[in-house]
Amino acid sequence: MTTLSNDVATRRTFAIISHPDAGKTTITEQLLLFGGIVRQAGTVKARKSGNFAKSDWMEIEQKRGISVTSSVMQFDYEGKRINILDTPGHEDFSEDTYRTLMAVDSAVMVIDSAKGIEPQTKKLFKICKMRGIPIFTFMNKLDRDGRDPLDLIAELEDVLGIEGYPMNWPIGMGKELKGLYDRYHNRVAMFRPDSEETAYVPLDDDGDIPADNPLHDDSWYEDARDNMELIEDAGNAFDMDKIAKGDQTPVFFGSALANFGVKTFLETYLQFAPQPEEHKTTEGDEVEPTDDNFSGFVFKIQANMDPKHRDRIAFVRICSGRFNHGMDVTLGRTGKTMRLSNVTQFMADTRENVDTAVAGDIIGLYDTGNYQIGDTIYTGKKKLQFEKLPQFTPELFVRVTAKNVMKQKSFHKGINQLVQEGAIQLYTSYTTGDYILGAVGQLQFEVFQFRMQNEYNSDVIMEPMGHKTARWIDPEQLDERMSSSRNLLVKDLAGEPLFLFENDFAERWFKDKYPDVKLTSKL
Ligand code: GDP
Repeated sequence: MTTLSNDVATRRTFAIISHPDAGKTTITEQLLLFGGIVRQAGTVKARKSGNFAKSDWMEIEQKRGISVTSSVMQFDYEGKRINILDTPGHEDFSEDTYRTLMAVDSAVMVIDSAKGIEPQTKKLFKICKMRGIPIFTFMNKLDRDGRDPLDLIAELEDVLGIEGYPMNWPIGMGKELKGLYDRYHNRVAMFRPDSEETAYVPLDDDGDIPADNPLHDDSWYEDARDNMELIEDAGNAFDMDKIAKGDQTPVFFGSALANFGVKTFLETYLQFAPQPEEHKTTEGDEVEPTDDNFSGFVFKIQANMDPKHRDRIAFVRICSGRFNHGMDVTLGRTGKTMRLSNVTQFMADTRENVDTAVAGDIIGLYDTGNYQIGDTIYTGKKKLQFEKLPQFTPELFVRVTAKNVMKQKSFHKGINQLVQEGAIQLYTSYTTGDYILGAVGQLQFEVFQFRMQNEYNSDVIMEPMGHKTARWIDPEQLDERMSSSRNLLVKDLAGEPLFLFENDFAERWFKDKYPDVKLTSKL
């Protein structure tokens, strides 16, 4: 018999954080293959093969209707049920990418070992760090010449402020890649470029490879052993508590493309990654995942790009209890009862067609406009609201106006609804009252423009203002004369004042001029 707590204990829900081209897609496909999901593995690539221009993306979305196939990928492996949440990058980068990280229990950080830590990884890492969730690192592309592994480990601490604990160590690299010295499993994984199967050679009591192994006298092997020993003596000690809080990251080396080190990574990850944990409410209570009452929150809304189908999908992370098809829940914000009958699940195997999901899983609700990002849904008498999702600091800005001045009404209605929904951030200029939109990715503007036209029949003009630095100021300290040609004073939706600076120089100039004024950013 399956009980709720048994089911919850099998769940591992994570996202991969990486910079474009580090190998996220390749590693995801490998993981799906291990889970026996071959058909969907192609799907990931199809979507990714991807480098299609933005306009094509719209067209593809239109043809396919809502594309949710790769938003959540679920598979079973060794008794665990794994949910991988996609964090779109490239042109698809948006606030949703960040918000997805609010719905996972751990993160896998994939780094290109030739490039080290890149900007998008840094941004996504910051959110994970803020949440204090465990982060597991995969140093990818070992089959190519990359940077010195010691350097890569040091960079984790220097750039991200997280301790790295190497779980294995490369023996050679690029053309000279021989294997992985696996201190955790006390074995060497032999790299055999011509074989699908990795051979594992156990180490003796001294941590040495048997004398009859060709690697025994290999200088790359000796190097790897020396480095491991050095780290053993002088490096960080493995610390489960630090890992749980995101202060230390276990580091695995490998090659996703050559399928080398990926299985070891997956199996070790599953051993250490947390099962779903409690979630905090605004009242300060903690909701346990094994609570019999169902609860969850909306972390992402995907609008349909097909004008004939206005529906959208609201992605819900289940925080407690069990979802059953057709169940009634309360939508906290409105107090209304909603029947969950039109629901997409991301099943391990569609043939099984199990229509139940538990804490840790993600469900997609077909929505005609009832849900907003951050909404809580629940069963039971006690009113429940999970903590608000954080606000992110936009980096791109446009000035927006209605093309047709006679259609102000639909323009305002559209903007207000899309902003409420969390699709984009809206700011108003102090002096002129102009509308300024802020986003973290260009895609958000395009989706906004498209939806304004299709859902509100409002053509908009967007004048790019480029990159800006947004900094909030305490209203008590604000003097409108601080506004100058080098910055723009605006207020956000909550009425809080902030400056948009042209660049870092302008911000520094401001700080020099007003040394007592405190400027802050969101995440
Ligand atoms: P994503 O943008 O992070 O999803 O990256 P992809 O998985 O699409 O990989 C980007 C490119 O790097 C592709 O051409 C992959 O074939 C290649 N790639 C991924 N992993 C490896 C690897 O381990 N070794 C090598 N040599 N190339 C890799």
